[in-house]
Amino acid sequence: MTIFKKIIDHEIPADIVYEDDQCLAFRDISPQAPTHILVIPKKEITAVDALTEEDQMLVGHIFLVIQKIAKDEGLTDGFRVVTNNGQNACQTVPHLHFHLLGGRPFGWPPG
Ligand code: 5GP
Repeated sequence: MTIFKKIIDHEIPADIVYEDDQCLAFRDISPQAPTHILVIPKKEITAVDALTEEDQMLVGHIFLVIQKIAKDEGLTDGFRVVTNNGQNACQTVPHLHFHLLGGRPFGWPPG
């Protein structure tokens, strides 16, 4: 069981900013920007490469939730959505998650 599953089950605390029957959003414990929120499905999916066709609606829903949270957080000057998949991308928690980052400018290309 991952730490994110424990957050979903409210077994460990998190600063939750949004929750519905399909997904949960909470502030990252180690923020890399003034706004750094993780949006995750409640379904246990390890990463993008584990998605299946049955997850299409779920992923679309998550992006609309990201859009709503970005508005609620006042990220009118832009924001970045990042998902790390696997070792080379430095994924550390094997539960699919989308980082919503905002509140400062970001460089490109990413490191
Ligand atoms: P990854 O490196 O897998 O893309 O991102 C995992 C993220 O989860 C990291 O940004 C890390 O700071 C965050 N994180 C890890 N453990 C916890 C936790 O217990 N609570 C919260 N809120 N964030 C966590």
